[in-house]
Amino acid sequence: MTKTPLFIFLLISFHTGVAQGINSIINQKEVARIEKTLSADDMEGRKAFTKGIDKASAFISAEFKKAGLLRWKNASGYLQPFTVLKIKPVSASGDIDGQPIDEKSIAVFSALSELTISNTGGYEKMYISAGDVFVDKAYKYLGAQKNTIVFVDTSFSKIFARFKGHVEQQFKTPRSVVFILTEMNPKEYKIQYKQEIVSSKFTNNVVGMLPGKSRKDEYVIFSAHYDHLGIGAPNEQKDSIYNGANDDASGVTAVIMLSKYFSKIKNNERTILFVAFTAEEVGGYGSQFFTKNIDPAKVMAMFNIEMIGTESKWGTNSVYMSGYEKTDMGKILEKNLARTQFKIHPDPYPEMQLFYRSDNATLARSGVPAHSISTSKMDAEKYYHTLDDEIETLDLKNMTEIIKAIGLSSKSIIAGKDTPTRVKEE
Ligand SMILES: [Zn+2]
Repeated sequence: MTKTPLFIFLLISFHTGVAQGINSIINQKEVARIEKTLSADDMEGRKAFTKGIDKASAFISAEFKKAGLLRWKNASGYLQPFTVLKIKPVSASGDIDGQPIDEKSIAVFSALSELTISNTGGYEKMYISAGDVFVDKAYKYLGAQKNTIVFVDTSFSKIFARFKGHVEQQFKTPRSVVFILTEMNPKEYKIQYKQEIVSSKFTNNVVGMLPGKSRKDEYVIFSAHYDHLGIGAPNEQKDSIYNGANDDASGVTAVIMLSKYFSKIKNNERTILFVAFTAEEVGGYGSQFFTKNIDPAKVMAMFNIEMIGTESKWGTNSVYMSGYEKTDMGKILEKNLARTQFKIHPDPYPEMQLFYRSDNATLARSGVPAHSISTSKMDAEKYYHTLDDEIETLDLKNMTEIIKAIGLSSKSIIAGKDTPTRVKEE
């Protein structure tokens, strides 16, 4: 792989005024300190719902505090806590236009132990019809702010069974969403549902805010997930901790460094939110909870940073962006980087559906130009989800350059001069 010669970096610094500041604020020594702390053995692999991840959460909070970030939504700190419930369905039955409905055709997303849903009130009626993209619509309704009943066409019976299994792990939220697999367009219905709450676990995102100078109600988000896989089975050759140095301590390091950078230069017209998500590896719960607590219409752009510690398939000074073709955000970032050697490529692994597999997905489904930025060679990333994903395998110099480039690429969006197009609802 060719390394970019030093003179090019000098040239970049010379041409862009901001770049001078950025080199001293986003420096490799600080990147290494943060990355090392997050991927250290004493974080125990940062698995959601463990003590190890609480340590990581406390560290990220302390860094946000040092950066001078404000709390978001008058929270008592940077932590955004929520509960994940483990549910065991007990019974489901009902009638639709006089005909009994099978238990298998009812999927319920709710924190309540007992529900009665009928056409006489309280639930908004929605449909997933033949030919719709089931996953997109189902998750959209799952994120609804109101109690909702969704009638799903029977052409989705196969995927419905899997979906039903998935919705059994849930958040504690005040509203319920009920999915019914049926051939009818029902007028009258009554469904009864009971479930048992087996256990509940607390976890939290970490959120810091830098208020915009003028457009306070327009958000730009930099995010990454701070959870990883925890501790594996005892291993004779090496320690059994999944350090997740690349996945995704590298992204969290970027978020922290960018928070320091933007709070130093203090020229953001739009409000910037810096978010470390929990529980990505076990189902994306952190980002789903975050999405439910923000108005998507106010989010102008989201930079979700996933695994930037290794060289991309094109070598150094380059990344790819998932869902590149879905908005014009990539073009805006490229324009802001035009004077540099840095390249942002479309996602080279479209068959892997990366756009819908990370923490950007829930906001993207609500129309937000929300993309993941990564260097991970998904077909050849040797240490991905292995015990060897350790700091020694990362290229910290390149990673530092990537973090700077992400910062510079967002310049006109932060300044309120450019607004990326929205993701079209499917
Ligand atoms: Zn990840």
